Amino acid sequence: MSVNEQLVQDVVKEVMAKLQLQSAPVKAKGVFEDMNDAIAAAKKAQQYIHRMSMDQREQIISNIRKKTRENAEILARMGVEETGMGNVPHKILKHQLVAEKTPGTEDITTTAWSGDRGLTLIEMGPFGVIGAITPCTNPSETIICNTIGMLAGGNTVVFNPHPAAIKTSLYAINMLNEASLEAGGPENIACTVTKPTLETSNIMMSHKDIQLIAATGGPGVVTAVLSSGRRGIGAGAGNPPALVDETADIRKAAEDIVNGCTFDNNLPCIAEKEIVAVDSVVSELMHYMVTEQGCYLASDEEVQKLVNTVLTPKGLNRKCVGRSAKALLAMIGVDVPDNIRCITFEGEKEHPLIAEELMMPILGVVRAKDFEDAVEKAVWLEHGNRHSAHIHSKNIDHITAYAKAIDTAILVKNAPSYAALGFGGEGFCTFTIASRTGEGLTSASTFTKRRRCVMSDSLCIR
Ligand code: NAD
Repeated sequence: MSVNEQLVQDVVKEVMAKLQLQSAPVKAKGVFEDMNDAIAAAKKAQQYIHRMSMDQREQIISNIRKKTRENAEILARMGVEETGMGNVPHKILKHQLVAEKTPGTEDITTTAWSGDRGLTLIEMGPFGVIGAITPCTNPSETIICNTIGMLAGGNTVVFNPHPAAIKTSLYAINMLNEASLEAGGPENIACTVTKPTLETSNIMMSHKDIQLIAATGGPGVVTAVLSSGRRGIGAGAGNPPALVDETADIRKAAEDIVNGCTFDNNLPCIAEKEIVAVDSVVSELMHYMVTEQGCYLASDEEVQKLVNTVLTPKGLNRKCVGRSAKALLAMIGVDVPDNIRCITFEGEKEHPLIAEELMMPILGVVRAKDFEDAVEKAVWLEHGNRHSAHIHSKNIDHITAYAKAIDTAILVKNAPSYAALGFGGEGFCTFTIASRTGEGLTSASTFTKRRRCVMSDSLCIR
């Protein structure tokens, strides 16, 4: 272990110990015992933020970016240590991506019509205090990304984070408030409670001062938010299929798919969760996956053992989510070298390790008789989530037909899934992809209200 690594580990331990000691009363900035107090504090901060100039808001955001970069390793280690999910190098990259590519105030734009009857503007104004529910799979990434966008739109935010990632979430929220204070902004731009529960979530969702709720998580939370009677942005589950046709560069497809699938041990909701390949390329694709891309080809018996380990009668075994391929194989008594990063096998689309959204590096391959069959199977596997899908093909007609049939918020062509987050692809980053409610990749403008400002018969100077 290098001196640097030891230092970071010591800092993480110290911070974790402090956060443990702080369970009551909590000193971390933005953290309250009571959800009502958290909302009241965020409301006061929002009134302050709304009076600040756009330039001042941007200065706070710049400082958030700086502190996120500085704390990327600590947040990454903390997230892995607390949740047991994902891996440190990829979580560092995710934080750097959030710091660099989450849109700020430049996303807040104005539309103008000018003519004989005057001047009309459409301005993007804040909702006020936004309630946000965040997952344990990308805890601090989502909290920081949401706060940058919401703040750029003139809002403040109250989080009800996943309890399994509470320490990491509190650390991120404290950091965001410190960034604001250092840049001349108010405290409590982001708030939360020490013990988030379904009860605190319900208080938040029914509070009169919360006009918009952004939910990032599985189907349960999105349904809860959309039933709350408030406006909801629902960023729900996915099960992204990667389709490979006979025109693809098969060797590159194997590399791209395995890179995307194994990123942060498959935790991102956009990551490749299964492959659908046309019959003529299956052998070649699996050959490259196994010989060049660190995939372990599991036997039928091992696949069955994985089913029994990974899935329980109540759903996913949480102890398997976000674990490495090596750790998953160790759970079924198989020891593999360190270069193994993914588990693969061939199966029918209905196979539980293929049809379920697993969030672990297990990549089942479904064989299709031709392209049309592959599209049908991939659409079935996406389960109507309309979230993400991927394709490896050089046939534009195929790509177009697939895009129309699967109709997802994200469709990556000939690249790893993370290209959709701006990592090796063009475009901005977000960790809240509003698949269910249709906003798609959220950014600052998603968290604003449109307002029409009309000046009749004046200010047109053409
Ligand atoms: P999860 O659904 O278990 O939890 C997400 C959040 O919702 C947590 O804060 C949890 O406490 C809360 N929650 C769950 N049920 C609730 C209910 N009935 N009422 C109120 N709050 C509730 O998900 P997770 O395991 O933390 O994250 C993984 C899931 O999230 C996957 O399905 C993944 O696809 C999805 N996800 C989607 C996006 C996206 O942008 N669309 C991003 C990340 C994760």
